[in-house]
Amino acid sequence: VEFRTPGALADAERWTAHNYHPLPVVVAEAEGAWVTDVDGRRYLDFLAGYSALNFGHRHPGLIAAAHAQLDRVTLTSRAFVHDQFAAFCRGLAELCGKDLVLPMNTGAEAVETAIKVARKWGYRVKGVADERAEIIVAANNFHGRTTTIVSFSTDPEARADFGPYTPGFVVVPYGDLDAVRAAITPNTVAVLMEPIQGEAGVLVPPAGFLAGVRELCDTNNVLMIADEIQSGLGRTGKTFAIEHEGVVPDMYVLGKALGGGIVPVSAVAANQDVLGVLRPGEHGSTFGGNPLACAVGAEVVRLLATGEFQERSARLGARLHAGLEALIGRGVVAVRGRGLWAGVDIDPVLMTGRQACERLAERGVLAKDTHGSTIRLAPPLVVTEEDLDHALAQLAAVLEG
Ligand code: PLP
Repeated sequence: VEFRTPGALADAERWTAHNYHPLPVVVAEAEGAWVTDVDGRRYLDFLAGYSALNFGHRHPGLIAAAHAQLDRVTLTSRAFVHDQFAAFCRGLAELCGKDLVLPMNTGAEAVETAIKVARKWGYRVKGVADERAEIIVAANNFHGRTTTIVSFSTDPEARADFGPYTPGFVVVPYGDLDAVRAAITPNTVAVLMEPIQGEAGVLVPPAGFLAGVRELCDTNNVLMIADEIQSGLGRTGKTFAIEHEGVVPDMYVLGKALGGGIVPVSAVAANQDVLGVLRPGEHGSTFGGNPLACAVGAEVVRLLATGEFQERSARLGARLHAGLEALIGRGVVAVRGRGLWAGVDIDPVLMTGRQACERLAERGVLAKDTHGSTIRLAPPLVVTEEDLDHALAQLAAVLEG
């Protein structure tokens, strides 16, 4: 037999910029929590497109919505209104408990949107002097790859050589409420944070931190912006990770799973007093809120409105975390996370996170390392108990060497 994987890997290497270091797996097909490579090998997908595949690969309801829309109209631009637009925006606004939605495409675009809205709100509503707006962010954040967003990254890999940087951001340690309090000035327009830091290694802030930020924002007339792009839409066992602390932000920033793993769909959701600051011509996107995106996004909202996926994530997440806790002292140093989302610190004496992921892939489980010795597990929320147990057994086997 001639294997197709080596040639396909070499071609990908030859013809693309090397801005990623993929695992040596070439996927050809996928369904639910499983993918099949070009040589017919099957893998359990425990990355789920960095949480863009919360509903699994090719969820039948989402695929049907996409197919139906492909046969009708796919793009109008926002120069005209189309018949899928209002239903998606209304559904998402109601899911978020907010007045309005502004749809974009990628996560980074939605973060940029939130930054622009917060700044304009600061100048026009709060009364901050021109060009003085400040936004407080957390160390070790990950909000995307645009020049403005990497300007406030603390990761040298993400930031170095991409300056000059956008000013107007103040970095404080994540989870440190006193530091947030000390950073607030009369020019502060927003605090922008991930309710759980994903790329940093699934870091859950100390209990009370998010509620404390909410209180500080209220008392200082500052907007609280929750970047739920990776943590939201069912991943942690609730619709939004920030709900675990009973907190409602002024702006939700959403992406990834909002497009059902089919199309890039992102959005900002907020009330009229915030999103209402934008006037025609001030912001936009050719593909933002297109008919195909709205048809799929509306179906995503319908799936989430059932509560079924949040419930699965909470229930199966407890099983995942129990299984991982049992590996502490047996190659695992620490485990963090909520629901079907875990950051697992591998004992660095045994292997790197990268090596752990390579060995997991050899055993048919796909996961991704982040920052040295941490691996991140985030299976689609449709994963079964059997699949979970299988993946945990493979991890245990990898750690036993
Ligand atoms: N914000 C968070 C919390 C993320 O995890 C990501 C992607 O990993 C982004 C923003 C950027 O999203 P995108 O890659 O779609 O631009």
